[in-house]
Formats: sequence, structure tokens, C-alpha cells
Amino acid sequence: MSNYKLGLDYALRQDQNDELKSYRNLFHIPKDTKGQTCIYMTGNSLGLQPKQTKSYINQELEDWANLGVKGHTEATNPWLTYHETLTESMAKIVGAKPLEVVIMNTLTANLHFMMVSFYRPTKTRHKILIESDAFPSDKYAIESQLRHHCQDYKSGVIQWKPRENEELLRYDDLEKILEVHGDDIALIMVGAVNYYTGQFLDLKRITKLGHKHGCTVGFDCAHGAGNVALELHDSGADFAVWCTYKYLNSGPGSLAGCFVHERHAYRNDLNRFTGWWSHNKQTRFNMRQEFEQLPGAEGWQLSNPPILSMAAIKASLDIFNEVGMEKLTKKSKKLTGYFQFLLQQLGEDTIRIITPNNHKERGCQLSIQVKDADKSLYGKLTHVGVISDWREPDVIRCAPVPLYNTFEDVYRLVDKLKSILLNA
Ligand SMILES: *Cc1c(COP(=O)(O)O)cnc(C)c1O
Repeated sequence: MSNYKLGLDYALRQDQNDELKSYRNLFHIPKDTKGQTCIYMTGNSLGLQPKQTKSYINQELEDWANLGVKGHTEATNPWLTYHETLTESMAKIVGAKPLEVVIMNTLTANLHFMMVSFYRPTKTRHKILIESDAFPSDKYAIESQLRHHCQDYKSGVIQWKPRENEELLRYDDLEKILEVHGDDIALIMVGAVNYYTGQFLDLKRITKLGHKHGCTVGFDCAHGAGNVALELHDSGADFAVWCTYKYLNSGPGSLAGCFVHERHAYRNDLNRFTGWWSHNKQTRFNMRQEFEQLPGAEGWQLSNPPILSMAAIKASLDIFNEVGMEKLTKKSKKLTGYFQFLLQQLGEDTIRIITPNNHKERGCQLSIQVKDADKSLYGKLTHVGVISDWREPDVIRCAPVPLYNTFEDVYRLVDKLKSILLNA
């Protein structure tokens, strides 16, 4: 991994020898105003559209046109059981058992539904621990849960913070927090991969620590699903949630994923919000029945799901299923390692990579702090066909996605960045 070389010819050779190179052709790559193919580095924000998505959605539109309500049972992919056909693929992506996974709602909604069950404050144990730079939606959701339970939403949140002049979280600091406040904390809920720094946390370690202190532990895997090997089952986490429109390429605002550990699958004592879709499938349509809990993650569903969005998820998961996370993460490590290698040539007084050095502690995203930069840098990059992401005050986030980004993309990105910085 360390024998990367400079020069475009090296990048082109890597692409040629890439066993996943054909997958790029399965995606629509955006073009700039001059018709040139963009260097797309924001698969961490909105994944690209698989070319087959349209036909998957059209299939459902056609079945709806031709069958009407009969489509629930007679469509090519019957709608009643549509989500079940996605469970196994999704479970593989996040390293879970099918019983533990369901696709439903949207991400923040799932976070709330999980907290209805897994945030049960008592008089003495009622606080929630999050990372200090949590994604805003997660922070707002947590604060509103505290208010919902009549807790003070400010003192109810305990933050796991990086040390002064550092960006990354340290486990020692989490241990210290738990030693002091462990008995007050009802729930630990952190991002598996931080959206800003790209740090991939050790889910198993955090879960073990949390459980030792009697806390429930959940993860927001929005930046992890389809990006890193999450191994949710083995992590022992109580629950996890993620969206499908980032690395999972399922379209803007598409449905989200939810994981509930097997140990909770048959519990009837957990408080939860329910609907007819959480009820026993065999008797769901008999109506007027007493509520009977479905086991596993499916038991947290409420409604019959939007099939058009499910179809987009299916189009994407079929690709993931074919490639498998093992090959994806293998290429990802190589591609991002190469990206890091090229960036390092720019010199430490020009840029600083915030994301961890160790490939085990990150996914494909690198967050790059650029000295003396402001948002005009982002504008200049966009002008030369690079789609990246700017975070105030001075950070660009770029995510070379192994399914559709190339070594050439990475080479050209760094080359363009270098010219912009030299001419600044
Ligand atoms: C993308 C993202 C969200 C977005 O939430 P939605 O409910 O899908 O709008 C929330 N949390 C994290 C950590 C994210 O990365």
C-alpha cells in the first residue's frame, strides 16, 4: 500500500488493473456546463444514480398502471413483501443478521423511533452522551427527546469532545467521562463515522464500555453504511440507523435503514410506537385484531412503505450484493491511501488532513484543512469540474467512492487543487 507513485500514468495503470473498474459504467456521472464529466467527490453526501434505477422504478409504475391494488400481491415484485427482498442485502452491507435489519422511514425519524424504545430515562439515569460535533439533526433529535421526557435539554447532554487543538475523539476521554458520569447516562448515541472528520469509531469498544456502565448504545451510521465494514451484530450495539442516499446511492431523501440487535428481537417489554406494519403479517389484514408484535427489527415498522423509493434502493443494493463489501473496502483503502499520498506531496504548510491516518479508523472520505483558505477555493474547484464539499471555516471534504471513482479522478483532483493553490 505504501508503494504509490506520482504521475498520471501510475493512476491510469491502477484503473486498468482495478477488478471493480467496470462498475463505474453502471452509474450516471454528472457533467459540467461544458459537457465535461465532473470529478465527483461527494458520494458521502448524495451517491450517484445507478443507470438501472430508472427501469426498476418504471417496473413499479407499470405494475401500478396495469394492476392497481392487485399489485400488492401480483406485481413482478409484490409490494406487500417488497422490503423483505432487500433485507438480506442490506444486512450483509452493515454486518447484521436479517432479523436485525429493516428498511423504513427516514434517518432522523428512525433515530426517534429507536429512542422511544432505547432511551428510557429514570430519576437517576437520564442523560444522553453524544460526540461534540454530532450532525445537527442528531443533536436536535436528542435534545427534543430530552424535552419530551421533561429533562433539561442542556444539562441532559454530555459531550464527548476532542482535546484542545485536536479534531479526533480519543477513547481514553470517553472512559473518563463514563467513570465520572456513567451512572447518569441512559444512552450513548454517536456517529459511527463522523461526518466532518471522517473518523470511523470502534463500535465494539464503545458498546462494551457503555454496557459496562449500564448505558444503552446506539450508532448513527449515515456515513458508515456502504462505506466501511460496520459489523453491527458483532459490535453488540443495541440499535443503529442510517440513510440510503449517501454511500448507498438510493436517491435523494430515500428510505433509511434500521438495526436492532438480536437480543431485543423478541422482547415485548420494550416501549415502542407501533402501526399495522409492526403487527403479525399473518393476521395484519384481518383487521380488528388485538395487536401482536412482529419479532425483530420489522417490529418497529409503522406503515406500508413507499415502493418507488424501495425500487431505487433495490436497484442500488443489487449492485452492492454483486460486488460485496469486502472488495469494496479493499479498493477503498487503496484509493483513499493514494489520495492521501498525493495530498501529502502538497506539503504540510499548505494542507493538513484531519481524517485519521490509519485506514482502519476511516472510510473513503478525507477532510482536508487548507491553510489560509476561504470558500473561494471551493468555487474555484467547482469551476474546474470538481464537485466537492466545503465546511466552514477552511475544510474541504472529498470522498473517492470505490464503486465509481477512479485513480484518475483522484490524480486530477489533486492536480487541480495544486494549481489553484500555487496560483493563489
Ligand atoms: C446525512 C445525515 C443525516 C440526515 O438526516 P435525514 O433524516 O436523512 O435528513 C442525519 N444524521 C447524520 C449523521 C447524517 O450524516
